[in-house]
Amino acid sequence: KVRVSNLVKNFGDNKVLKGINMEVHDNEVVVVIGPSGSGKSTFLRNLNRLEAPTSGSIVIDDMDIADPKTDINKVRENIGMVFQHFNLFSNLSVSENVMLAPVELKKRTKTEAAKQAHDLLNMVGLDSKFNATVQSLSGGQQQRVAIARALAMNPNVMLFDEPTSALDPEMVGDVLAVMKQLAKQGMTMIVVTHEMGFAKEVADRVVFVDDGNIQEQGTPDEMFNHPQNPHLQDFLDKVL
Ligand code: ATP
Ligand code: MG
Repeated sequence: KVRVSNLVKNFGDNKVLKGINMEVHDNEVVVVIGPSGSGKSTFLRNLNRLEAPTSGSIVIDDMDIADPKTDINKVRENIGMVFQHFNLFSNLSVSENVMLAPVELKKRTKTEAAKQAHDLLNMVGLDSKFNATVQSLSGGQQQRVAIARALAMNPNVMLFDEPTSALDPEMVGDVLAVMKQLAKQGMTMIVVTHEMGFAKEVADRVVFVDDGNIQEQGTPDEMFNHPQNPHLQDFLDKVL
């Protein structure tokens, strides 16, 4: 469970997040939408402390993320993140990418990690690529490996920041299918995406961020079929 209270993030004079409040329950899938520059990535990056909040509190399960004393490794173990650019280690094989963190952080032996990598790669449809090099994979395949790698730490929450925006259109569906399956399995997820079809189908709740604040939130039906805020209406006119 995620509880964000009054989250403020400034970059110098640029007030990017102006007091975000959000609760995400276990097993809930929240899709965050909003215009470019509205602070969506900054919000996610604060949740796993890639950025330090200016003020406010972030509690995930029992961990106080905003507290600088909280062990950053524990934070990253519990919160998986997948980015637009998959950032795999291109000098390592597919399975080595998935096994690296669990082994390095001594969560698992090599044998256990290899077995888990098989299971995870199987789940994302890439078991046959176990020994493949990263460079031999398509963008969509690499992104699915990135998802498997994030899952290898057994996170309680998964954050996705536009995971399909950098992909060729024909690759998008496979990645969304993996995310959908993950949602079905009960993973708690916060997903920034412009894939409105995914939001309609998979989101329990859609959150519209604009100008550093949550301007409106609701079920996909409420948000897409009965938007109230004029900025949300404008935004949807542009993206739908
Ligand atoms: P997009 O849809 O284009 O990805 P976004 O909603 O994710 O946009 P952010 O990337 O969070 O927007 O950026 C919000 C604002 O914060 C922008 O004005 C950006 O310039 C600023 N910003 C983000 N990261 C930094 C940083 N590390 N240093 C300074 N300013 C930053
Ligand atoms: Mg962004």
